[in-house]
Amino acid sequence: MLSIGLTGGIGSGKSTVTKILGELGAPIIDADKVGHAIYAPDGPAYQEMIVAFGREILAPDGTIDRRKLGPLVFADAAALQRLNSIVHPKMFTRMRQMIEELRSGGERNPIVIEAAILIEANWQPLFDQIWLVTASKERVIERIERDRGLKPEQTEARIRSQLPDEQRRKYSSTVITNDGTIEELRDKVAHLWQAALASGR
Ligand code: ADP
Repeated sequence: MLSIGLTGGIGSGKSTVTKILGELGAPIIDADKVGHAIYAPDGPAYQEMIVAFGREILAPDGTIDRRKLGPLVFADAAALQRLNSIVHPKMFTRMRQMIEELRSGGERNPIVIEAAILIEANWQPLFDQIWLVTASKERVIERIERDRGLKPEQTEARIRSQLPDEQRRKYSSTVITNDGTIEELRDKVAHLWQAALASGR
């Protein structure tokens, strides 16, 4: 059974593709949710994070407060590196376990893991296939302004802070270009899903 990693930049359409794949029958793992779980007080990164960044990252209830963590790492490349080196390998291990649990539970469909930072975090070994969702800068800016209310400059700044798609393409087995309508996207994804079903069993 295949594992498919789905990645792409902000507003490319990852969540939309993931939702379509879910409707087609794919079991979905959301890397963001895995990240939240490993930060939790009973999660595997909690103690190490406190050792690395101090108790000042904690909210009064003892959970790690990302709003306190953010300012400590975003202006400091070494601190961000330290954070990533704690969190990314633990997320990798947890996602591998989740894939194994689905398999041993009898799941036969390809498993889809949505992971915006798949390449940045070096999670490629988890996947049989990596699908990249991409859209032109113009489309992304327009959709993000329409649906999330971000100004074009804000979206452009986010795009600039991320890994460029040329880098993502190097690792991708499939590229889904999402410059058309949602219906066109749905058709593309349905075809890819059929092919994945055929090759994955
Ligand atoms: P990502 O998860 O990569 O950030 P989303 O799937 O959330 O991107 O898509 C960004 C926004 O664009 C969402 O509001 C989504 O509904 C919209 N969107 C995605 N694909 C299309 C499309 N083909 N046509 C119009 N809107 C789209």
